[in-house]
Amino acid sequence: MQLSLDLATSPLETLRDGLLKTFGPQRPTKRLDPVSQLVRSMIGGRSPDAVSWAAYHRLRDRFATWEDLVEAPDGVVLELIKDVTYPEDKARHLPHALRLIQVRSGWKLSLDHLSELELDSARWWLQGLPGVGVKVAASVLNFSPLNMRALVIDTHVHRVASRYGLIPASYDTAHAYRALMDLVPDRWTPEDLYELHWLMKGLGQLLCAQHAPRCGACALNGGCARAGVARSADILAWKPRR
Ligand code: SF4
Repeated sequence: MQLSLDLATSPLETLRDGLLKTFGPQRPTKRLDPVSQLVRSMIGGRSPDAVSWAAYHRLRDRFATWEDLVEAPDGVVLELIKDVTYPEDKARHLPHALRLIQVRSGWKLSLDHLSELELDSARWWLQGLPGVGVKVAASVLNFSPLNMRALVIDTHVHRVASRYGLIPASYDTAHAYRALMDLVPDRWTPEDLYELHWLMKGLGQLLCAQHAPRCGACALNGGCARAGVARSADILAWKPRR
C-alpha cells in the first residue's frame, strides 16, 4: 500500500498523534536535577525501570551528597547497585564521571553550565565522561531542568522507530539519534520530545514488545512498515521546513 503523504507533516508527528490517542499526553511533572539525572541514567541502561529506580534510591539514601559518592570506598557503590545490568562497569564509571565533572567545572559538582551551550556541544561534553553515551547524555539534557531539545532513544524507542520504518534496524543508537532528530519539526519544544520518548517507550513496553508485537491493538498499524505498510522514500527524505 502506498502512503498518501502531506510533506508538511513530519512522520514523527503522525506517529506522535497516533500514540496520543492511546496513551494521552505525557508531559514532564517532576524532574531530577542534572547531576541526579546523570546518576539515574548511568545506572539505568539495559535494566528494568523498577530495578534501576530502586538502585538509585539506595544511592540517594546512602550518600547525603553526590560528592560523598565520589569519595566512597571501593565496593560500596557496587554493593548498592549490584542488581542492575553491568553493575561492575557502572560502579566503576559513576564515581569517575562525577570526579571528572568536578575537575572540569572548577571543583563544583554541577552540570548547570551546560545550559549555556548549544545542544550538540552540551551532548558531546557529557559524552566525554566515562560510561556516558548518546542515550544518557540526551536524558540529562531533556529530562532534567536543562530542558533541551534532545530525544532519548532507549531500546523501546529504537525498536518502535525501526519497526515503524523510520530508521533501518541496523542503526546503532548514535545513528538512530541523528536520523530521528533530523525528523523533528523545528516548532517542537523540549517538552514535545520528552512526550515523544514516553509515548514510544510506552508502546514498546505494552504492545510493540521485542517478541510478538500486538499489531492488531496498535494505533500505528495503519502506517507501520512492520505491520505491512510499505514505507515511502518520501518519508525518509522528509526534512523540517526552515
Ligand atoms: S503496528 Fe506492530 S510493529 Fe508496528 S509499531 Fe505497532 S505494535 Fe509495533
